[in-house]
Amino acid sequence: MYIMADQWGIDALKDLAYNKFEFDLAAWDLDFVKSEYKLVAETVEAAYDAGEATNKICKTLADKLVELGVFASEGCARSALINVNADYDDFGKDVIIAFGKRQGKNKSEGEKRFSCPECYATFQTAMPSSTRMYSCFCCGMEYSGTRWLQFEVKT
Ligand SMILES: [Zn+2]
Repeated sequence: MYIMADQWGIDALKDLAYNKFEFDLAAWDLDFVKSEYKLVAETVEAAYDAGEATNKICKTLADKLVELGVFASEGCARSALINVNADYDDFGKDVIIAFGKRQGKNKSEGEKRFSCPECYATFQTAMPSSTRMYSCFCCGMEYSGTRWLQFEVKT
């Protein structure tokens, strides 16, 4: 519906579709993304496949997934999104921008800023365990929490 609205150039309809999407997205939480990761990955792919028409939806999706901390979570959702990231350059860019926006805000409890030594992407997240492995949200490179601390960006 969102794409059709764009083709017709009917802004009101487009806004309506976007608002509906935003409403649905507001219900997403980390548990939902983790259990429905296939659906989530497909939604992201569909949004980016649609190109220009769904630009706003794409960015909202990237913001939401970063906000929920999916990239710092354990399990299939993170892997699924890193795979999408590898196939969709624009998703990677939007995710980096979303991390950047969060850096402008006050850090939440336990969050630190890191710069990946492999791909130089910077992001802000919490890594509660020093022994667990955490992968870069951008290139997927894995390091332990202790190792990541060496790549912390101090401000
Ligand atoms: Zn990286």
